[in-house]
Amino acid sequence: MRIVQKFGGTSLMDTQRILTAAGRAVRLARQADQVVVVVSAQGHTTDQLVAQARELTEQPSPREMDAYLSAGEQMSAGLMAMAIQSLGCDAVSLTGWQAGLRTDETYGNARVLGLMGRRIEEVLEQGKIVVVTGFQGINDRGDITTLGRGGSDTTAVALAAFLKADLCQIYTDVDGVYDADPRKFPDAVKYERIGYDAMLELARQGAQVLHDRSVELGKQYKVPIQVLSSFRPGDGTLVSD
Ligand code: ADP
Ligand code: ASP
Ligand code: MG
Repeated sequence: MRIVQKFGGTSLMDTQRILTAAGRAVRLARQADQVVVVVSAQGHTTDQLVAQARELTEQPSPREMDAYLSAGEQMSAGLMAMAIQSLGCDAVSLTGWQAGLRTDETYGNARVLGLMGRRIEEVLEQGKIVVVTGFQGINDRGDITTLGRGGSDTTAVALAAFLKADLCQIYTDVDGVYDADPRKFPDAVKYERIGYDAMLELARQGAQVLHDRSVELGKQYKVPIQVLSSFRPGDGTLVSD
């Protein structure tokens, strides 16, 4: 089995949480699975980076903004690879451009086009866990682009699609997909399973639990997406046909 596991910002908030996430990846890899871990920036890092750039200028250069914002995920990836290594498993971190994730030219909201090269495959073949930065890729000019807020989900599903993974797991701070935001609506009902089209509608209405483009890619490439909690046990919600 080949599995992509994505950890969002709250799942990586501090050292203990990074270690917990790393432990999940290591346990999975020990079941003889090939594991690709996709990481977001820690906690509210991206918000803080946006705010800091805005202190300089109200109209930052989109190219430089992407160069800057992508750094949050790069820090997470290095930390995650070190955490996995500290648990006795070999791991290599790759940025979006090192991994070869190609996007269009749209700085700040780039669309994923494909995966260039075999860097991820090579590391997997060496029996190592690959940690890839979410939220970013590289365009035709060789510049770093970002995929829009919440875009690490899209990195994860895109990699699962291009690497023909069996499953894409999205670890987050709620235990699945609900019919409404469970933080705002305590009576919201959780789905055990939900189809791509129904999920796409929720995502487009603003349910940030999955980035809408990740659902579009999941549907296009038929990637089963499991949304589950980093903090509570359970199988979460399966998004599939
Ligand atoms: P991550 O940092 O893991 O990417 P996000 O904050 O982007 O997490 O997404 C998870 C959040 O999505 C939850 O905390 C929840 O408040 C919100 N959310 C909005 N709509 C829904 C929904 N329909 N089902 C589940 N969560 C939802
Ligand atoms: N770090 C980025 C954001 O906050 C991407 C993500 O978390 O998915 O939007
Ligand atoms: Mg998110």
